[in-house]
Amino acid sequence: MGNRTKVRTMPLLPLRGLLVYPSMVLHLDVGREKSVKALDKAMVEDSLILLCSQSEANMEEPDQDDIYRIGTVSKVRQMLKLPNGTIRVLVEGIIRAEILEYKDTAEYYEVEIKELPEQLVPDPEIDALMRTVLTQFEHYINLSKKVTPETLAAVSDIEEPGRLADVICSHLSLKIKDKQEILETVNVRARLEKLLDILNNEREVLELERKISQRVKKQMEKTQKEYYLREQMKAIQKELGDKEGRAGEVEELRAQLAEAELPEKAHERVLKEIDRLEKMPATSAEGGVIRNYIDWLLALPWSKQSEDDLDLDHAEQILHEDHFALEKPKERVLEYLAVQNLVKKMKGPILCLVGPPGVGKTSIARSISRALGRQFVRVSLGGVRDEAEIRGHRRTYVGAMPGRIIQGLKTAGSNNPVFLLDEIDKMAMDFRGDPASALLEVLDPEQNSTFSDHYIELPFDLSNVMFVTTANSAHNIPRPLLDRMELLYIPGYTELEKREIARHYLLPKQESEHGLKEGQLELEDEALATIIRRYTREAGVRNLEQQIASLCRKSAKKIVSEQLTKVEINQENLKDFLGPAKFRYGMAEVEDQIGTVSGLAWTEAGGDTLVIEVSIVPGSGKLTLTGKLGDVMKESAQAAFSYTRSKARELGIAADFHEKNDIHIHIPEGAIPKDGPSAGITMATALISALTEIPVSREVAMTGEITLRGRVLPIGGLKEKSLAAHRAGIKKILLPKDNEKDIQDIPESVRDELTFIPVSHMDQVLEHALVEQPFSRQEPVAPHHDEQWEEQVQP
Ligand code: ADP
Repeated sequence: MGNRTKVRTMPLLPLRGLLVYPSMVLHLDVGREKSVKALDKAMVEDSLILLCSQSEANMEEPDQDDIYRIGTVSKVRQMLKLPNGTIRVLVEGIIRAEILEYKDTAEYYEVEIKELPEQLVPDPEIDALMRTVLTQFEHYINLSKKVTPETLAAVSDIEEPGRLADVICSHLSLKIKDKQEILETVNVRARLEKLLDILNNEREVLELERKISQRVKKQMEKTQKEYYLREQMKAIQKELGDKEGRAGEVEELRAQLAEAELPEKAHERVLKEIDRLEKMPATSAEGGVIRNYIDWLLALPWSKQSEDDLDLDHAEQILHEDHFALEKPKERVLEYLAVQNLVKKMKGPILCLVGPPGVGKTSIARSISRALGRQFVRVSLGGVRDEAEIRGHRRTYVGAMPGRIIQGLKTAGSNNPVFLLDEIDKMAMDFRGDPASALLEVLDPEQNSTFSDHYIELPFDLSNVMFVTTANSAHNIPRPLLDRMELLYIPGYTELEKREIARHYLLPKQESEHGLKEGQLELEDEALATIIRRYTREAGVRNLEQQIASLCRKSAKKIVSEQLTKVEINQENLKDFLGPAKFRYGMAEVEDQIGTVSGLAWTEAGGDTLVIEVSIVPGSGKLTLTGKLGDVMKESAQAAFSYTRSKARELGIAADFHEKNDIHIHIPEGAIPKDGPSAGITMATALISALTEIPVSREVAMTGEITLRGRVLPIGGLKEKSLAAHRAGIKKILLPKDNEKDIQDIPESVRDELTFIPVSHMDQVLEHALVEQPFSRQEPVAPHHDEQWEEQVQP
């Protein structure tokens, strides 16, 4: 290199986006007019040309200032004219050179140059530098993948340090500016160091790139995986006939809507909700809420109705078929149906069946539905204290549901069922609103054609529904409701009626339910009577039915396990089936006792007998009452006590008894709260018996209010009380004279077996109740009228 001329002129070819180092051989396509001319000029001389890069690659006609001043003197090895007019040349870089001066710039650039030979001072560190550069280059190759490993092999063979730097640099994808910097560094050691810098830098950049690309790849893989899984799920759902998630669901709902005959408003609402649902993601909770609402709207019997059977004879036949006795209620039900039949619309009062449990209230309502050919729904109102239970919760509530009325209608599946509202007297009221007023709207024919449930939001027509209600006692029905209802009392059954019901209704029903054929179970009359008397004590027949069911169950088991053809049940073996008797019947087992008297009470479970006990212990005159008594009953006890004190001398009781004794009045079997004044004479009798120590006749039971002066005042519920006394095996009933007229209401079979003794004063009560008269009455104050009273009530 040293023997070349240092300064000379030659044509210049500006390069765009490209740089040539000494000892590099490469093709160039030359198209610019000035460049072609420069080439021509070189070819006519010594084929040498200076290749310098432009600082801006896209500049068509670069100025002197736009061309780097240092370039490479190169030799043109070949020239080829391409069809498009450009010339392809093969050039070989020879030596760095610097432009000293531009000689000509018109046709092409001719420059005066100075060659720049390598500056290399012998230096032991150069070798080390070369090795480091090579290792760094190797890393670079590994990372970049743009350079082949063969290049590395070729590069490793280069011994001249300057050339090594040039060649490596030519393989790097660098900006022209950086490449030019290497070109301009004539000092070899400095060049190697600069290259090392560049390599380090590049490697860092590449590593960063790799990291980023890996992360991107991972992310891509994850999304792809999810996408793939989701597609798979869709495919599975499709296989299962589920269509594609919500899309299928929505389609199905639309089809259901098309089939359901909804009123216009409801139809529109469902349509709107389906649209909303469609936009929800398949898993969203709100979607579930909307879906639930749509299902309710679609399921309600907006316009579904059953055809009424208005044949009264048929209705009568069904009522008789299902129920024994109950003549009055049946009659009343038929009248009611006849009126409805004429009016053609359920208007007017709502039927309310009032009576103790198990007397057939539910069962009558069911028969009405059967007679009319309507659906039957029963909803119990017992314990309902929240308006929302009647009218539903707003949809904004979590887990909101329609109220019981709408729920009942959905169950019925028609909009004109017989709808039994059970235990309407057991509703409560508290801060959550008044269920009774909501119910009022339900039962009011003026309002119920547009009944609105909070959940459903759209008005539902209840005017075709036939509501029937039941209650144990009319007292507890809220007044406004009571005004809308027609009460139909069912008092309870006599023993005779119970026997008939058991024989003809309960037994056949239970036999068939337990798979027993006719004749397989033989129940003797006596045994049936014992079940009624000693295993049950109730106004209705609910427990009786349970006892019979248990007989059937045990018989069925016996027949199967012992392979019998039939089972006979009589007085003797009854215990084996039902266990020991639960109640006492009749007073035969009871002795005449001091201070213990049978009273008669009326409760919601029908009439009941109630035993009052009085005990006297030495003390200071306290009057204690125990056994779940109401206030009225306590006052009544006070009255009895005052009366006794005022009569003490006459009755032969020490005048100061109340100062030296404590008196304890107790009413056992206190599970059912008792109240009312009708135990007045009973308490007085018990008190006097205890004080005089004269026993009370075990056959007598009594009912009547007492005044301070000993008069006996009338009471209510005589019929129920008589039935209860009869059930308990009592023979004689003392009743207020003013209640004598009620005796005719008592069923004949019961009347026949009881003796009724009307009384108007305590004196008469004591006469009949105490087994002997107090000694002071050896000379009676008033004449006896025993026989006369009894005669009056004998049929
Ligand atoms: P309630 O609703 O008054 O509590 P249910 O209607 O549930 O009473 O009656 C209890 C059971 O007694 C039912 O199986 C019913 O069929 C039966 N029952 C009640 N009264 C009669 C009757 N008069 N004739 C036939 N079965 C009756």
